[in-house]
Amino acid sequence: MDCIFCKIGEGSIPSKKVFENERILAFHDINPAAPVHVLIIPKKHIASLNDAEDGDWGTFGEIAGVAQKLARELGVADSGYRLVNNCGKDGGQEVFHIHFHLLGGAKLGPLFSRGS
Ligand code: AMP
Ligand code: ZN
Repeated sequence: MDCIFCKIGEGSIPSKKVFENERILAFHDINPAAPVHVLIIPKKHIASLNDAEDGDWGTFGEIAGVAQKLARELGVADSGYRLVNNCGKDGGQEVFHIHFHLLGGAKLGPLFSRGS
């Protein structure tokens, strides 16, 4: 399968890893949108949240735990951070292997713009 994040998971494309176990990998985003910008992915190819199945929910809970640990290690736990998943076209998803953005290290802009 021609999936860039599967290749990062296999190690055939390099990444700056910050966490890895049998199920999960976390690495620095190549084009950071904040001083701390890490992507947390399951190694299993799941295209988006729409494609997750019943056996996958435990992995997403584990990803939340990895995010908590990395936020501490990367020094943003106290200042605050966001854990973001973009799903599909309107959600702004560009890479169709599910991933969670851990963003912090600066005051982040408003997540929503509400027109008046
Ligand atoms: P999304 O728009 O939610 O699909 O986010 C995709 C993210 O993947 C973007 O923030 C990209 O900068 C990031 N990205 C794409 N290719 C790589 C790569 N080879 N290594 C690290 N991050 C990447
Ligand atoms: Zn993949």
